Amino acid sequence: MSDGNSKSQGINTKLAHAGYAPRDFHGFVNPPVVHASTVLFPDAQTMRTRNLRYTYGTRGTPTSEALCTAIDSLEGSAGTIAVPSGLAAVTVPLLAFLSAGDHILLVDTIYFPTRRFADTMLKRLGVEVEYYEPEIGADIAKLVKPNTRVIFTESPGSNTYEIQDIPAITAVAREHGIITMLDNTWATPLLFKPLDHGVDISIHAATKYPGGHSDILLGTVSANEKCWEQLYNTYLTLGTCAGPDDVYQGLRGLRTMGLRLKHHEASALEIARWLEGRPGVVKVLHPGLESHPGHAIFKRDFSGSSGTFSFVLEGGEAQADAFLDALRIFGLGYSWGGYDSLAVNASLADRTVASRDYGGAIMRLHIGVEDVADLMSDIEGALAAALAA
Ligand SMILES: *Cc1c(COP(=O)(O)O)cnc(C)c1O
Repeated sequence: MSDGNSKSQGINTKLAHAGYAPRDFHGFVNPPVVHASTVLFPDAQTMRTRNLRYTYGTRGTPTSEALCTAIDSLEGSAGTIAVPSGLAAVTVPLLAFLSAGDHILLVDTIYFPTRRFADTMLKRLGVEVEYYEPEIGADIAKLVKPNTRVIFTESPGSNTYEIQDIPAITAVAREHGIITMLDNTWATPLLFKPLDHGVDISIHAATKYPGGHSDILLGTVSANEKCWEQLYNTYLTLGTCAGPDDVYQGLRGLRTMGLRLKHHEASALEIARWLEGRPGVVKVLHPGLESHPGHAIFKRDFSGSSGTFSFVLEGGEAQADAFLDALRIFGLGYSWGGYDSLAVNASLADRTVASRDYGGAIMRLHIGVEDVADLMSDIEGALAAALAA
């Protein structure tokens, strides 16, 4: 692999070259997209011992290996699996480390499908599920039980962008032998490196920024030395390998992710600052803003922000709908991380311990690569429509 000097390289150099050495495949700059189930063995003895680099499609191909090696070099992980969606990147590690009778602590600002998995399947399998406040920090120790096996974190939180004190939480977890997982989709390993902050398992919906073009579904899960073997064995047991075309596109996306993130960051911050104090805007929820309650921890732990944040729109559903219907450039749709700007009225109805009144409708924006002036004028028109509703 070409990332032999990766420790000393800058991030964009690493993104451009990690994971694949062109000389391994006749000099072609990019790896082949290997569509494969069967791998042929040269003889019976090799088949018996499985003494080959690749043995079956579900166990890895040159394409998946290129992506996973690249992610390892970004995360500093012992190993990475590529799975068919971001949601699978959440469910596979949970199934890998939880057993009946275990207790799991999840942050209450969790991505909703993660909550649904915990509340339905994990409970059915006999796991005790408990939620905690995102700002809990070291006080998580008070919720630890003898059977606590996993602490699941997501920072910033989905839709409302609370920042968690990850080092404080992982310190408590280590003391008690608890495994920590972090859904790091918002930051990517470029803006926050979970394993450097004591997290055992780093989770990504590569559908978002690595994909970058709203056209793939992909997840990655990276583990430290301690957790890698169990994660990898569970992945093989479940058969949750990602498809070769999406794996290829995920790797392709990494090559330009640094450039795209810089653009998303600058545009989103400019729009977030501009939104603060505008008529009809109650509050802007973006951890990169000085007004954000988690800004100090954000500055300490993150090296930058990405392009997705929310603001609180004065009013209720009628104002939210008027805002969305007046948008011309922003699309109305789920997910984010692509080149295209998106808007959605996020529901917080699922929250349990962290539910509070934000004083209006939560409007989540993903700022794409369009020109900021055009996006601002689109938002300006939509705010006027909301005020008139
Ligand atoms: C989108 C998202 C996921 C799931 O990704 P999919 O590829 O859409 O399944 C997981 N976690 C977070 C935080 C997300 O935003």
